[in-house]
Amino acid sequence: MEYTNVLKFGGTSVGNAQRIQAVAALVSRDDVPKIVVLSAMSGTTNSLVEIADHLYRGRRQEALDVIRDMEINYLIVNSELFSTSKYIREGKEFLQTIFTYLRSFVNKEFYPLQEKAVVAQGEIISTTLMHYYLQEQEIPSTLISALDFMRIDKDGEPDYFYIKQNLHRLLADPSAGRLVITQGFVCRNAQGEIDNLKRGGSDYSAAIIGGILNVAEIQIWTDIDGLHNNDPRHVKNTRPVRLLSFDEAAELAYFGAKILHPSSIQPAKRASVPVRLKNTLNPADEGTLIDKDSPACDFKAVAAKDDITAVKIKSSNMLLAYGFVRTVFEIFEAWKTPIDMIATSEVAISLTIDDTRHLDRIVKELERYGTIEVEHALSIICVVGDFRADTPGVIARALHALREIPLRIVSYGASEHSVSLLVRQADKQRALVALGRALFDNE
Ligand code: ASP
Ligand code: MG
Repeated sequence: MEYTNVLKFGGTSVGNAQRIQAVAALVSRDDVPKIVVLSAMSGTTNSLVEIADHLYRGRRQEALDVIRDMEINYLIVNSELFSTSKYIREGKEFLQTIFTYLRSFVNKEFYPLQEKAVVAQGEIISTTLMHYYLQEQEIPSTLISALDFMRIDKDGEPDYFYIKQNLHRLLADPSAGRLVITQGFVCRNAQGEIDNLKRGGSDYSAAIIGGILNVAEIQIWTDIDGLHNNDPRHVKNTRPVRLLSFDEAAELAYFGAKILHPSSIQPAKRASVPVRLKNTLNPADEGTLIDKDSPACDFKAVAAKDDITAVKIKSSNMLLAYGFVRTVFEIFEAWKTPIDMIATSEVAISLTIDDTRHLDRIVKELERYGTIEVEHALSIICVVGDFRADTPGVIARALHALREIPLRIVSYGASEHSVSLLVRQADKQRALVALGRALFDNE
């Protein structure tokens, strides 16, 4: 069967019995052949990480306490989800096997790798409960285990050859129908052991599956109408952006629009499969479509990233010297600290980082080359729009909107579709509102 769509639902979209029921209704309202990828119910992965951490540190009682709390919560979900005694019983029996399995780790030595097996249970639970619920509703569906096809290689990258072969094999089975459910996040590693695609990895699972099956659309379902043109937590009257290119979406995602992990949709971009962000609470809304191209438009959206630190290196030796920038960058590289923004003049370099774990050591080494100034509590404002060199004046409008706000660094010219501006965190809200008013009629 040709599958048309991949639909991924995040933790809050399956966060309680009513939400699971709503997702079941949503995925079965039409006959479009689809693969449904589920996250764990919200909070579950955190609890499982906590359990693994307790076990690793030998805190058996604490681990048992978290397991018990989780079990109580799931038994409530089970009784609210199902309405027939048959499925209440089957759900309970299934949950019992999961919690017995989790308890089986308590009196054994705990190896770091077992953490992955523990953490995988969240998605195994959510998909199994969904599958049972669909059965109870007499909606035909097939559950395939991500452990049977999703795999990473020894570098932690998706093993596309393996995944493709095995996914096609499972879907070619005559029993696989129009509605297939599987786990996000969960996979095996090169040794065949249970592993995962890192926190938030369900989007990545959906993009990998959708790319391999070359579906018409990958849908990421969350609790908001797509990506907004400004940060709804700080600005009123924001609106969803209807169309973005993959590159524009990546910039926005990196700079704070929390809705999507930037690298998670790379497999979709590679396969040129469009990704649509949809809202479970408002399914009629078209959401945001992320596609190969999007029409150039002066301004599309702004987003901000907090807790940025700026480091300024002033050196008289930099005058006419070469190799200075390299020396500076090598120090950050040696401390595995990524640099986000850079500005240079004849005598100084200003740059920003958000990982300050090694800042003291970095500063110490930089001091050999000049005077160092460090400023904390800054925000990067990312403005996504059309900043090609042959469309003059666009940046002027953004800067004009910010005329009353002190700017630390302006980064223009590296990307054709974004400009980054460094401001004090204390000015961030004002900056977002000012940009929103001038560019998008936000308030
Ligand atoms: N359940 C996993 C997590 O919380 C994966 C995901 O939700 O995308 O990180
Ligand atoms: Mg998630």
